[in-house]
Amino acid sequence: TEIRDLLLSRIRDVADYPEPGVMFKDITPLLADPAAFTALTDALAEIAERSGATKVVGLEARGFILGAPVAVRAGLGFVPVRKAGKLPGATLAQAYDLEYGSAEIEIHAEDLTAEDRVLIVDDVLATGGTAEASVQLIRRAGAEVAGLAVLMELGFLHGRTRLEPALGGAPLEAL
Ligand code: 5GP
Repeated sequence: TEIRDLLLSRIRDVADYPEPGVMFKDITPLLADPAAFTALTDALAEIAERSGATKVVGLEARGFILGAPVAVRAGLGFVPVRKAGKLPGATLAQAYDLEYGSAEIEIHAEDLTAEDRVLIVDDVLATGGTAEASVQLIRRAGAEVAGLAVLMELGFLHGRTRLEPALGGAPLEAL
């Protein structure tokens, strides 16, 4: 489709970043193009409205850049999921495995309630580890997961297969 072609044309492939053998998908050309950034924001906001979400959760760091304008456009609150140690208030933490070692993410527990339905927004779904841990955080905060929306899914890493049990029927949409 037209929007898919516009978005794809503004994503830059960077070889051997951040380490040899990785082809990094750089979204900064898309962010710098007002037509593409607006089209992406509008498409994600439409998903948010369709999902019945009350809040958008953005994943550090590019999920903040995409998620905040989506929340404003859809008239929803925004809640950041951050790397451990960055949030000043009372947090819930969730650890998850990386290829080598592990990582931990956090959320402010009081920013979500049992009344909230949450759309998770990020730029890239790779292995799905970050998104899976975010689903767990949102559930532990007492809220419901309305879905996960990303700009791009790296299909060869099978994140969707990994996430489907965690999402339990909530939609995973990749533009
Ligand atoms: P995962 O946990 O799914 O393996 O990794 C997803 C996280 O890493 C996302 O927050 C995403 O921003 C980042 N990420 C992984 N690969 C890429 C990539 O090629 N391009 C960009 N922009 N982000 C990536």
